[in-house]
Amino acid sequence: MKIKTRFAPSPTGYLHVGSVRTALYSWLFTRNQGGNFILRIDDTDLKRSTQPAIKAIIDSMNWLNLDWDEGPYFQTKRLNRYNEVIDDMLANGTAYKCYCSQSRLQTLRETQIIAYKKPRYDGYCRENRKLYGDDEPYVVRFCNPQSGEVIFNDLIRGPVKFSNQELDDLIIRRTDGSPTYNFCVVVDDYDMDITHIIRGEDHINNTPRQINIFKALGAPVPVYAHVSMILGDDSKKLSKRHGSVGVMQYRDNGILPEALLNYLVRLGWSYGNQEIFSLDEMKHLFKIEAVSKSASIFNMAKLLWLNQYYINHMPTAYIATHLAYHLEQQGINTCNGPELTVLVKLFSKRCKTLKEMATKCRYFYQDFSEFDNDSAKNYFNSFAADPLKIVSTKLAGLDAWTPVLVRSAIEQTAEQLALSIEKVGMPLRVAVTGTCQSPALDVTIHAIGQKRCLERIKRALIFIANHAK
Ligand code: GLU
Repeated sequence: MKIKTRFAPSPTGYLHVGSVRTALYSWLFTRNQGGNFILRIDDTDLKRSTQPAIKAIIDSMNWLNLDWDEGPYFQTKRLNRYNEVIDDMLANGTAYKCYCSQSRLQTLRETQIIAYKKPRYDGYCRENRKLYGDDEPYVVRFCNPQSGEVIFNDLIRGPVKFSNQELDDLIIRRTDGSPTYNFCVVVDDYDMDITHIIRGEDHINNTPRQINIFKALGAPVPVYAHVSMILGDDSKKLSKRHGSVGVMQYRDNGILPEALLNYLVRLGWSYGNQEIFSLDEMKHLFKIEAVSKSASIFNMAKLLWLNQYYINHMPTAYIATHLAYHLEQQGINTCNGPELTVLVKLFSKRCKTLKEMATKCRYFYQDFSEFDNDSAKNYFNSFAADPLKIVSTKLAGLDAWTPVLVRSAIEQTAEQLALSIEKVGMPLRVAVTGTCQSPALDVTIHAIGQKRCLERIKRALIFIANHAK
């Protein structure tokens, strides 16, 4: 049997990490078995579906490299098909028209609640099919089996059982003629030959209803796996309050796709004690049966740890392409300055995110308008002027611009003035970078470039002349 799965998000808000983890599990399960993965946009909820949300889904999948073999399909393009199936069901008696008024349904509900019963439709029109004329408004309801059980073997949760008496006759078409969500999903999964449905556990109550519809359509029932929720560190459902953001926001916060995927795969799945998984490794090792049924807790510190790991272990040129994105986001033009790979090497151990790295790289491409206050206060005293003047002359006179010669210019200055390297290096660092923190000074100065460094030292000397006591 050829495996076929789908990721079917509703485009009603940003694509959150819980959905993406479900997509990842579904994708890995499919890729692991050489199956086909479908992207379907469940956009029947016209009021809540938006174009930016559709774009965010597609951008996120692309950014994460989760490719699909078919789609994206859109439910709104399949309305005729759903109605065609409903008409067939009306004709063969697996669905019926229900003319019950809102007030009858309301009274029924209230009576059931008073009697401590679960509110459900009582099947009045199922029993009295011919009472009304066709011109009166009606909904179409599915004839749910009235007895027996729906049992399915969830790949994550094991056997799950629902009694049919718990389920009422679901509305599959509203009065305005629009088919309802739970029904459309079944027709799609049937038409698209989906063999395995891996989705969030918030859908588990829909599953018995959907299985009954599959059976009524004479369709094979897919295998199900319901993935648990992701919670915040207070054990409440993960939300914006916990700093949880849409997937593309993780990119904008400087997270690498590899780190996010690695983080998400481990959040609820394990393979021994292994923490680091390349996408290829995940593909080979992932087993849906090994996914945990309990909820997972989102841990930002661990995601940042993985991000730093990938910043340090992926090819420098690759990290540079991501750094380029963040530099551009921050309005830093990199035409005039060092190669990005140089900066990746300088900063990879010092940054947890690429956004942070881009911010730290600014002074390699742009002059800063002010020296950091505390750094200037600590290092731009009257003793700083001489070392800066001398080192500046030495840097200006170098035969070649190399980190080794930059280093020896600093060392010679210290020697000449009988000062420690630090007494030359720290004011110099503040002069050329604007702050007292930077990677090794020789490589930093080398990367900033001779002309820029000399101009900045000149500015520092003016600053010192005006401010230093
Ligand atoms: N569209 C549903 C959602 O975004 C998923 C439907 C399904 O996987 O069956 O939650």
